[in-house]
Amino acid sequence: MDLYPEQLQATSDFLRTSFLRLALVAIVFITPFAIYNFLVAQYLISIICWAILIAFTVNAGLIVWHNRYRIVLTQFGLVPIILLLLVVLLGQQETIGIFWCYPAAGSFHFMLPRRHAWLSTAVLFGVSIPLVSAFVPPNLAIRIVVTLALVSIAAAVFVRVITEQQHQLRVQAMTDPLTGLLNRTLLHETLDWAIEQSKRSELPMSLVAFDIDHFKSVNDTYGHDVGDDVLCRVSTLVKERVRRVDKVFRLGGEEFLILLHGTGKDAAQRVAEDLRERIALLELLPERSVTVSVGLATLQPNEDWTAWMKRSDNNLYRAKTGGRNRVEV
Ligand code: GH3
Ligand code: MG
Ligand code: MG
Repeated sequence: MDLYPEQLQATSDFLRTSFLRLALVAIVFITPFAIYNFLVAQYLISIICWAILIAFTVNAGLIVWHNRYRIVLTQFGLVPIILLLLVVLLGQQETIGIFWCYPAAGSFHFMLPRRHAWLSTAVLFGVSIPLVSAFVPPNLAIRIVVTLALVSIAAAVFVRVITEQQHQLRVQAMTDPLTGLLNRTLLHETLDWAIEQSKRSELPMSLVAFDIDHFKSVNDTYGHDVGDDVLCRVSTLVKERVRRVDKVFRLGGEEFLILLHGTGKDAAQRVAEDLRERIALLELLPERSVTVSVGLATLQPNEDWTAWMKRSDNNLYRAKTGGRNRVEV
């Protein structure tokens, strides 16, 4: 079972935020530079600066108003313009132009995913080093290459550490620590997403709600630790039985919900029956078996997630009142 990648994409979230901040910094620092170069009749530099400002503003606008960060715009729009500015500055200002390579090298990891950032850095080196070598002695050129590389590496390391930490926090926030299943955090979003997918591609979707029977007596008879162990082993069985596209939630206590992606009523019923049988056969406790009651609901047209869940809940309730250890559809 996979968590949804887009919901765990700490990288894209980080990039969105850091790009916005960077756009703000760029606007504050580059606007006077663009105006100054226009006033001193350095029109080429001024035009490139305005182009950079426009590229930053357009992409920042997309983030603010559409919550979408377009990496392609940065990779194939903004970065080439920045590189063009560096080439022009190195050509015109020589040694002074070198200074501008550092903020550029440092910024790529804050606006592009890792591979794109390294690719842009490689192109930066590819275009700037031959130019720099033409007007500085080799020993200085080597130091420039090394210090530029260090700036890039430091930025890459920093971004890596931050995104890894962010990813861990997200996983912690979305999963139940005891069973490793999803908790309720993503429930609403996930079911909405499934309904959307179902509408778009006419895929059937089914919910399987299940609850362990007489679980309180398991705790009372064998202790809370054994109860926890039962929860974990039932969860492991379910995780192993469903496919990677399916999602398993622990809604609380001993109540679970499975989203069977692209699965219609008959197939879902087979899965539910199979799970119920497998759990009953697990031999989790010395003197009795652990059973579950299951309620199944296949998504109906125009149903929202609350109504859909309510139906699976009602069916689970019917399974309980109908004698437990059964599936109700
Ligand atoms: P039913 O067949 O009607 O579902 O009866 P039940 O006893 O399973 O249901 P009830 O809701 O009365 O009891 C649920 C029990 O689950 C009560 C609570 O102590 C226990 N429980 C909830 N969370 C945990 C947990 O994390 N670990 C353990 N060991 N027990 C838990
Ligand atoms: Mg129960
Ligand atoms: Mg319960």
